[in-house]
Amino acid sequence: MRKTLVAGNWKMYKTPTEAKAWFKELLLKIPTSLPAEAALMVPFPFLPAAQEVLLGTAVAYGAQDVSAHVEGAYTGETSVRMLADLTCKYTIVGHSERRSYHKESDALVAEKAKRLLEHGIIPILCVGEPLEVREAGNAVEYTLGQLQGSLEGVPLDDYDRLVVAYEPVWAIGTGKTATPEDAEAMHREIRAWFARRFDLAFANGVRILYGGSVKPDNAAALFAQPNVDGGLVGGASLQLESFLALLEAA
Ligand code: PEP
Repeated sequence: MRKTLVAGNWKMYKTPTEAKAWFKELLLKIPTSLPAEAALMVPFPFLPAAQEVLLGTAVAYGAQDVSAHVEGAYTGETSVRMLADLTCKYTIVGHSERRSYHKESDALVAEKAKRLLEHGIIPILCVGEPLEVREAGNAVEYTLGQLQGSLEGVPLDDYDRLVVAYEPVWAIGTGKTATPEDAEAMHREIRAWFARRFDLAFANGVRILYGGSVKPDNAAALFAQPNVDGGLVGGASLQLESFLALLEAA
């Protein structure tokens, strides 16, 4: 049985001081018996506070990106060794904002996923189509192509070493959400792709999150779909009450 995961993506909001206070308040308010797993994907400078406050609790944490290089003269980059030292459980790779603003290719995303796996960190691999691709009727082909390219040469020995997030680009931060039926249809395609690439056991085990304007009022319907195993949530993960409401919806 796949455990629902609600992962907040804080993007470039808050400060380390604000984050630390938020983490502490979350631990005071989070229900003790949660059916879903909670995770927060935060900016690099927040990770020491996450480690101090969240490590060993019910709330996992990680980063939003990683360098494809293990170490070296790469000014401004953050290495996987640093993330492992800070005990990150997950890290996002291939978010559409990085693919689009930083021109990240599938091949680069695959290198980043490899680095994470080599250091025991679970990649949350983002894929999803832009609006014009959906309108042209090519959403499935495009998204599966991205999945294929972003996992090229990535050694995956078990389904629990990877999380996929289907995030249609037109739904991210726009207030437009895929209908539960559209999300489910794409998640089914993604799962079928894993069955072809690996086997049924892998496909049935891998968690596929939906991302794109998930809010407390639409989360329950999305998470109720049989192939939607939770969400990667930007805007609605920034307020404590709404993050808690998303966990309740799961
Ligand atoms: C995201 O950042 O991955 C995301 C889905 O953002 P939002 O929930 O704000 O659309």
